[in-house]
Amino acid sequence: MTSIVHIAIPCPLRQGFDYLSDLPSTAWSKGIRVKVPFGSRQVIGIVLNSHDNLDKQPISKLKVIIEKLDEQPLITVELFNLIQWVSHYYHHPIGECFQAALPKKLRQGESAELLTETIWKITSLKKEDNLGIKQQKIIDLLVQNASGLNQQQITQQLGQSRSSLISLENKQKVVQQQQIKLPSTTQILSTACQLNDEQQCAVDTVWSQRSSFSAHLLQGITGSGKTEVYIHLTQQMLADNKQVLILIPEIGLTTQFVERFRQRLAARIVVLNSSISAGERKQSWLLAKEGLADVVIGTRSAVFTSLKKVGLIIIDEEHDSSYKQQDGLRYHARNIALVRAKRLSIPIVLGSATPSLESLYHVQQGRYKLLTLNKRATGASLPKVKMVDTAGPTANSGITSELYQAIQTQIAAGNQVLLFINRRGFAPVLMCHECNWQATCSHCDARMIVHHRRHILMCHHCGFIQRLPQQCPQCKTTDLNTYGAGTEQIEQTLQGYFPDTPVLRIDRDSTQRVNAFADVVKYIQQGGAKILVGTQMLAKGHDFHNVTLVGVIDADQGLFSADFRATEVLAQLITQVTGRAGRGKKAGKVLIQTSQPQHQLWQDLIGKGYSYTAKKLLQQRQEISLPPAGSLCMIRAEDKQQQLAIQFLTEVLAIFNQHNQQQVMVMGPVPAIMEKRAGRYRAQLLLSSPQRKPIHQLLDQYIDVISRLKLARKVRWSIDIDPLDLM
Ligand code: ADP
Ligand code: ZN
Ligand code: ZN
Repeated sequence: MTSIVHIAIPCPLRQGFDYLSDLPSTAWSKGIRVKVPFGSRQVIGIVLNSHDNLDKQPISKLKVIIEKLDEQPLITVELFNLIQWVSHYYHHPIGECFQAALPKKLRQGESAELLTETIWKITSLKKEDNLGIKQQKIIDLLVQNASGLNQQQITQQLGQSRSSLISLENKQKVVQQQQIKLPSTTQILSTACQLNDEQQCAVDTVWSQRSSFSAHLLQGITGSGKTEVYIHLTQQMLADNKQVLILIPEIGLTTQFVERFRQRLAARIVVLNSSISAGERKQSWLLAKEGLADVVIGTRSAVFTSLKKVGLIIIDEEHDSSYKQQDGLRYHARNIALVRAKRLSIPIVLGSATPSLESLYHVQQGRYKLLTLNKRATGASLPKVKMVDTAGPTANSGITSELYQAIQTQIAAGNQVLLFINRRGFAPVLMCHECNWQATCSHCDARMIVHHRRHILMCHHCGFIQRLPQQCPQCKTTDLNTYGAGTEQIEQTLQGYFPDTPVLRIDRDSTQRVNAFADVVKYIQQGGAKILVGTQMLAKGHDFHNVTLVGVIDADQGLFSADFRATEVLAQLITQVTGRAGRGKKAGKVLIQTSQPQHQLWQDLIGKGYSYTAKKLLQQRQEISLPPAGSLCMIRAEDKQQQLAIQFLTEVLAIFNQHNQQQVMVMGPVPAIMEKRAGRYRAQLLLSSPQRKPIHQLLDQYIDVISRLKLARKVRWSIDIDPLDLM
């Protein structure tokens, strides 16, 4: 044996593992994948480092590497270092961080070779005579596409053509070649529009700083032309032979967004979202790594794409919470993207109509530059917003008479109406009139939600499903009532009011498949549905030109939440929703139903707008050192036995208390607000500090001690740095 190789293994242990190899250490560059024995399994690991000095440690106990999977490191040095930073910052085991960064097929050990395909190419550009009509057409097509076309592309244009191609091949007019399978590019591009002054200024500012790190917050209301700015910047980067990484939220709007890029750029664009197959994902990832994909558009995990010559990172809807992973490695893609841009010395653009308080704070501190787009690019005016008191006359299912009449007017005028209610299902409560029994989940501290259409009760926290009871399980009466309304009920009520008008419900239940959502969006744009009822899924990014009225059915949920971010999220949601109205030529109107029309948040938001409101919320956070002004870390634990989670966290607290110099405030442990979920009792310990550093120092110092606690191997526990969800 000639070297010892230190390897990251996908397992919860916070360390690398040593293995023996009969190759010299020079064969083991970091970032190479290996297959190794681990316990009773064989796993795929990543080389961290290696050395030849076998005398330094006893090697008799070390196991031998089974297989070397890559000749060249799959993980480039840049990505390798980034993942190490991620592991350190999020205090997460290095092996699991590599897991999170790699496409499934690659982390399972599949070859890192790019897929190839057969293409047809002409042998000479000389003019041909004496050919059959079909053969002549093929030659003409291949002359136009001198770099070759695959069978499918030829068939698409000329119909069945295989036999003619074979004849041409026999005449040595065309040849078949193997070539790396590349993403297709659009042949006919749509023309670019002339940027307005604000857009041009944004593009120029970023462009002028392209050779060093700079962060830009592009704030512009929906429809102000942010996407257009991204497209122009991307175009310029491509002309400069650079790649562009674009992150988008994890919702159904990918298709529309990607389509716009495809129609405008003669570029190889790859998409990394949940709708693509594992094979495609691997191919796209590798293409990006080799510099063969020009633009990568993807959701959260695309931040880990290997990129050979990236020149710019763009994050659209940067405030969106889907950038934060909520289990396993609890990273925030925006945070990682910023670190990555900094290390690469390239600019990053964060775009939003409703920037996060985090990003606004960085602007305030001078770390990001603010670029604003104040006008709607198409000249459409912003809608009028009005609060409607739900204490007033109400028609049914919580729709006030005022909202009802407004819907009626717009429908009569042939327009579309968009209604928001942030609750799926028919009703959130099923209750017995006689004995007050309520349907609750047996696995969670939560109510079961009534889903009428499927005749079930469903828990939205663990997915538990029961048949809809016909009688009270406690007192056997049949006097069961629902309270409150969800999308399904609103849909039904409105269909009752407007029997001749097509009503469409859009939520996670109605659009299970990823592409179903794209179909729905198209259907709406074509005017197929007049009344649209949906969850916040519908609030983002879509361009529905005929929508003239937006109604928010219940805006109160965020006003009284225990979560300190609830008001920020509500302000963002309402602003986004408002942006859906009047995007076309017709003016729009927004009605927001609330029981608290006088609430300060409404006064601020409706009277003074999002920026003012956000500034005020930020000030409140700063006064009490909450993020983004302060730093938080949540340590969570859960177990089937009620006391164990708390007990574990109590031991963690005791460890912290030994040395903590009160720079970090430790709160708890306390049971989570919803203590029981999916059959497990949950508890949490919150670390808070006006600065980031002391929290990390505390964790660095004690994480190993904590990991070695007996209970640490019994309960499920996790560390959440910069948690978004405190509930
Ligand atoms: P956002 O991303 O901020 O919501 P978009 O880039 O989607 O805004 O622009 C909204 C609409 O305005 C789109 O239909 C877009 O084609 C159009 N648009 C954007 N910029 C311009 C411009 N400079 N001139 C004309 N139309 C524009
Ligand atoms: Zn009862
Ligand atoms: Zn449940």
